[in-house]
Amino acid sequence: MGKPVNVAAAVDKFLAVTGGNLATYVESCLHCGQCAHACHFYKVTRDPRHTPAYKLLPMAKAYKAQRSPLSWLGLGRKITEADLAEWEELIFDTCTMCGRCTIVCPMGIDIASIVAVSRQAFAAAGLGPEDLMAAADNSRDKGSPLGLTPQKLQDRIEWLADENEVDIPLDKKKADVLLTVSSIETMKYPDSIVAMAKLMNHIGVNWTFSSKGYESTNFGYLSGKPDIAKIMVARIVDAAEDVGAKTVVIPECGHAFGVMRWSAANIIGRELPFEVRHITEYLAEAKRQGRLRLKPMPEAFTYHDPCQISRRGGATEDARYLLEGFATGFKEMTPTGNFNWCCGGGGGVQAMGRAADVRHQVFKIKMDQVAATGTNMLVSSCSNCRLTMDDSKAFHKWPHELGSLVEILADHLDDGSADKVADAAE
Ligand code: SF4
Ligand code: SF4
Repeated sequence: MGKPVNVAAAVDKFLAVTGGNLATYVESCLHCGQCAHACHFYKVTRDPRHTPAYKLLPMAKAYKAQRSPLSWLGLGRKITEADLAEWEELIFDTCTMCGRCTIVCPMGIDIASIVAVSRQAFAAAGLGPEDLMAAADNSRDKGSPLGLTPQKLQDRIEWLADENEVDIPLDKKKADVLLTVSSIETMKYPDSIVAMAKLMNHIGVNWTFSSKGYESTNFGYLSGKPDIAKIMVARIVDAAEDVGAKTVVIPECGHAFGVMRWSAANIIGRELPFEVRHITEYLAEAKRQGRLRLKPMPEAFTYHDPCQISRRGGATEDARYLLEGFATGFKEMTPTGNFNWCCGGGGGVQAMGRAADVRHQVFKIKMDQVAATGTNMLVSSCSNCRLTMDDSKAFHKWPHELGSLVEILADHLDDGSADKVADAAE
């Protein structure tokens, strides 16, 4: 017997969240189909159920049956358990909330936002991938989806600081900048933590990590559990207020940035007492101010724009600005920037084991994009994209190298030692 499904709870949630712009969206779809070819899931499967507009339908049904101006006519069909069963996979496994469909939609319908709130209705009904739900529960109970507790964070930071002889401050009393982590990089790509520390130290800012609020990924948001989303945001807000930080910097994680930058104030119900910057934006600003000095990097590589950092985050040009004049071997892929294809693992899809097959199919788009550049290295500024690509790289036995933007920057810091040597020789 399957899990009990609480259809009434799903309908209540749909109705509670379908107001304002969301009602306008469900009313305004022209059924023109233009969004289909923008979606990587439809592109690789050609399954009509994977068209973005189809993912609107559960919410549209609930709204039309009970909320729309004509609902009193009783023409709308009420949402059923069968509807929820049909759409569960579509709302979770085959939408990375990448926002690519919105840029081609003539009505500007924000499918990604609709999917995010639709997930709340599915979670309220007791539906959703178990591993995604477990990641959210882990975040609430242990501090992070991958079990990075405050003690593990401290151990990891001490180890990384010793191994790499770099100062990594944790729990300073006062700091201007609170730097956060994604547990993916802390557990799988710890060189990213070292790279961020080197960069922050190089640009000369008073910064710290905090064991009170460190995990910036928000699986509460991705799983449709707003209570957990609120806990995760509140931890970072409390930590930032404690140290008096004016800026919270989000590491290489796209969805972490999206939630903190665009949704966090609404989630906690008050204005954030600091500015939120993705590390790409923060470093670009430091470079503009002459505080980030880099030695040339001649190796050929291409850059994958993470959806939540470029298209939906606004840092597309900042990534290019960071590469300008430094990465002489950088080559753009096509399409790129705000039109780039998603890696296939955003929106929590990377955490869903049952979505692995479709993720691997989607990654073939990226393999073709990289092949067309003639480069052998694919750099990203999102550890979730990197993990998705690493996973598919292994599946396809793809021989290319994967890299991180902060790591290549940190590897090419110009600390002026060449000038010092020259001065000493004179
Ligand atoms: S947001 Fe992205 S993954 Fe979701 S339906 Fe639109 S194009 Fe597809
Ligand atoms: S492009 Fe926009 S209006 Fe057209 S079907 Fe898709 S969501 Fe509806």
